[in-house]
Amino acid sequence: MDDAPAPFRFFRDFLCDRCGDCFAACPYLELSREEAKKEIASLIEQGRSRALEVCNTCHTCDVACPNGADPYELVLERWWERRRGGLPTTARLVTPSEPCNIWSCLKAIMPADELALLRSWDDFSPREEICLTGFYTSVVPYIMRARVLEGLPKVVGSEALFGCAGDIYKTGRFDLVEQIARRLERVFGELGVKRVVASMSAEGMVLKHILPERFGARFGFEVTTLEEWLLERLLAGEVKVTSPLGMKVAVHDNCLSKLEGGRLQGVIREIVERTGCRVVEPAHHGERSMCCGFGAAAARFRVMDIMSSGYRRLKELEATGADAAVIYCPACLFILSVIREMAGARIPFYHPVELVEAAAGGRPDRRHEERAWDMMAVISNHLVKYALFPSHRRDFQPATVSPEVEPLPELPPWDRTRMKALATLYHSPVVQNRAMRAAISLGFKAAVGGYDLARKRRLGLKS
Ligand code: SF4
Ligand code: SF4
Repeated sequence: MDDAPAPFRFFRDFLCDRCGDCFAACPYLELSREEAKKEIASLIEQGRSRALEVCNTCHTCDVACPNGADPYELVLERWWERRRGGLPTTARLVTPSEPCNIWSCLKAIMPADELALLRSWDDFSPREEICLTGFYTSVVPYIMRARVLEGLPKVVGSEALFGCAGDIYKTGRFDLVEQIARRLERVFGELGVKRVVASMSAEGMVLKHILPERFGARFGFEVTTLEEWLLERLLAGEVKVTSPLGMKVAVHDNCLSKLEGGRLQGVIREIVERTGCRVVEPAHHGERSMCCGFGAAAARFRVMDIMSSGYRRLKELEATGADAAVIYCPACLFILSVIREMAGARIPFYHPVELVEAAAGGRPDRRHEERAWDMMAVISNHLVKYALFPSHRRDFQPATVSPEVEPLPELPPWDRTRMKALATLYHSPVVQNRAMRAAISLGFKAAVGGYDLARKRRLGLKS
């Protein structure tokens, strides 16, 4: 069996005593200690494990390992072996060098005010402090218009930064991660930036830890997250809570928030409490938090895996009985918003910035429901192409990412036309009526239920 090339061996076998703590903690494998010991031994010694089929890239096993052996990275190394010849076609959606991706499709239907915002962020002139947009902040840019963000450094970024390689890392394509790291070194070096406020905290963690520690990236700046910046403003009295919200709020933690001993998770809870809300925790939270569904795609790149995993998380959030859920990662926010609309759920979602804006007496410009239907148009366009064009079903080899920023490809005209037609349909009364929404919800739950049952039987899983 081939291994990942030497520079990309991140699992530290020499630290592993085969104790099984890692896979016993995995919220997707749900194994007893004895089963977990066998499962990790099989992955290490034979390269085989159900983890390769069900991993949601949640980082729990890395956190659970008492020896710091990084077992999640072993899953990624095995995926590298599968994928170095090409990525499954669904990965085109998160690859900006492919013409038909989430951002190019969404821009075909985005309102003019949000497009103007994105254009204003695509400005790489030198400055010492920036707020980095983040891959998926660009999907929900309206969040960044809040009054409580006055004083934030200039927002800068574009898809050309490949989301700081966070998504590609999850696929195991470490060669591409390395290329993206070199591009980021060049771009940030030319900017002369000394401090980055990451609007997407997961990217902040990648910039702070994964790229320097695993790929030798040399960045001459300090990284903080938007949430830390916001809490500082609250603590300094620069943002005042004038209308405490008095809600019971469930917090959804993202996968990379488990780094740094979960420090960011504490920041989010403090923000929530300072808005006059009470935190209630879902069954899996903190170190054991479950994925929003996004990471479920990394194992097999199936849309149904995303739906099934996301619905499981949504049900956990609803089961808290909370008045609202706070979702601080923009990627989790848009995925869970799509699942919420499909399932016909009612629990409202807030980004922490929106929660603070409301508590400070403002009116956050929340467009999550509309954006969820826009994103369904993006996913539907992909599925239509998958069904109609054999060439779109094949694996693809992403283009090399050069250190220089190159222009990204344009969305082809037919995709533009399909996107407009799909978005018009999804926002129209044909879909947005009570009977159709109920039918969509029933169909979604039946499809997820059937898919889960078949998957559990095939893989011998408990849930
Ligand atoms: S990777 Fe860590 S937790 Fe897993 S078996 Fe090895 S030592 Fe134990
Ligand atoms: S990263 Fe999460 S889902 Fe993947 S094997 Fe580890 S614990 Fe399980």
